Amino acid sequence: MIALEALNVTKVYGTGVNAVTAVNDVSFGIRRGEFVALVGPSGSGKTTMLAMLAGLLRPTHGQIVIAGQDVSKMSEAKRTRFRGQYIGFSFQANNLVPFLNALENVELMLRLNGKLNRANKQRASDLLERLGLGDRLKNKPGQLSGGQQQRVAIARALIHEPEVVLADEPTASLDSERAHQVVRTFAELIHEQNRAGIMVTHDLRMCKYVDRVIQMSDGQISRIIADRADILRLAGMAEAADGPMPSTNGKATLAGEPVVLRGI
Ligand code: ADP
Ligand code: MG
Repeated sequence: MIALEALNVTKVYGTGVNAVTAVNDVSFGIRRGEFVALVGPSGSGKTTMLAMLAGLLRPTHGQIVIAGQDVSKMSEAKRTRFRGQYIGFSFQANNLVPFLNALENVELMLRLNGKLNRANKQRASDLLERLGLGDRLKNKPGQLSGGQQQRVAIARALIHEPEVVLADEPTASLDSERAHQVVRTFAELIHEQNRAGIMVTHDLRMCKYVDRVIQMSDGQISRIIADRADILRLAGMAEAADGPMPSTNGKATLAGEPVVLRGI
């Protein structure tokens, strides 16, 4: 079952001579229970795509369909409500509430959705524990490292069990071991709870935890890697290079031709 669909989505920033086409006629779909990595060089349109999927940014053309509803056509108020219920996201700037501690930041999503009860409070602390923050529940964001803040943001994105979970560079400020732990847990939760997940990453090593890799370049999908062996080869090459590689510098040779996807 398709949880999320982008249909011929285009985003143009600015007008006239200043117009920048950040996303250019992109179509794809993500199934429930599927975890996808969105990769590509800086400026290729990944964050813009994610912000449109999150309903934070309206496409110039095209449709975003989540749980059967066209997000791109909703009024601002409806979109905000819909987002709270159906979409979980963590963006590069984590936007944690500074005066709430880690646990309260996660519980906030439950509160906003009217789901703050004893059982869900327990789930919130269990989730933070699973992300390695069991001893940091009472710390405010200012008392947490960048990586710890990022993990709180991930817990917050998942706690209200949204259909769709979106994360922009969730490992950007994590060391290698933590990065693996966080993305592995992220993948487990998406699969266990049958959500649709999209992670933007520049670290191809993290692709080993996903079911499909969508590569963007110049605002378009340049390649889709769905074959397990190809995904592992991609992640393995990045691992062998001992660290994050520029994601699509063309040096990574993969079996198969670039595929342009219409739907899935
Ligand atoms: P990525 O996340 O892959 O680095 P972005 O989606 O951030 O790519 O950016 C895609 C393109 O759109 C880039 O050329 C960027 O400069 C441009 N862009 C992004 N945000 C804006 C904005 N708010 N106004 C104008 N141009 C933007
Ligand atoms: Mg970006």
